[in-house]
Amino acid sequence: MLRISKRLEMIAGGVPTGSRLADIGSDHALLPVYLAQKKQIVKAVAGEVNLGPFQAASRQVRDSVLDQVIDVRHGNGLEVVKVGEIDVITIAGMGGALIADILEAGKDKLAGVQLLILQPNVGESNVRSWLIQQDWILINEQILEEDGKIYEILSAVPSHLSQVSNVMLYRERQLADGVTVNRELLLKLGPYLLDHPQEVWFQKWESELEKLAMIVQRLALSALPESRMKELEYQQEIERIREVLACLQKDKPSFN
Ligand code: SAM
Repeated sequence: MLRISKRLEMIAGGVPTGSRLADIGSDHALLPVYLAQKKQIVKAVAGEVNLGPFQAASRQVRDSVLDQVIDVRHGNGLEVVKVGEIDVITIAGMGGALIADILEAGKDKLAGVQLLILQPNVGESNVRSWLIQQDWILINEQILEEDGKIYEILSAVPSHLSQVSNVMLYRERQLADGVTVNRELLLKLGPYLLDHPQEVWFQKWESELEKLAMIVQRLALSALPESRMKELEYQQEIERIREVLACLQKDKPSFN
């Protein structure tokens, strides 16, 4: 059995048994090969836009003698799949903006797809925004740390397969001490991750706050008038996130 990272294992864990999978940006096709070896999928398309990874994926599938199960296809995003041939799509290991672009460009191919498992390396809010715009509903958010990096895995279904609505999911939260988490903040922090905060999620946001503080420091050095406005916006964002973290940190024992 192929050995894969904890991150890919967690993504694999969300793929229902018997699925027809498309793994877009498959690189070495590790995810579909692993799932096929476990007999968790009946068919897969491994899509790759770049020639090197496409060839690596083709080699991996050939060496694993899985050509009958996994079709490696060379192409951009969802152009490699046909409508109706896939139940589950995984897109992992790229930026959230790129994942949203791939889904937007290929949204015609999503008819009949029942589950999206998306793992943006950064910019998770882009993915959440796209899901809302296209009436897909997040059903799960996972977070993990591996080799010093923190990853979020977002799973979503089309609205007709969901018990909850996006209105419910992104409703404003009132935390203790009068702290409010509005929709904009929920898009960043993640509605499920916020409702069930884990230690690794706090670590992620402490580190994000440090990055934001550095941006503020750089903006403070700029003489441009628009930098003052941006500096203020970032400062307010830092304060809002800090308030939420402080509030949830205080409540932590009741969550764990
Ligand atoms: N999905 C694997 C994982 O999570 O370990 C590989 C991630 S790798 C960092 C990103 C892969 O996505 C690269 O192999 C890249 O060539 C591919 N990629 C980027 N944009 C793409 C697109 N528009 N369509 C298909 N593949 C794409």
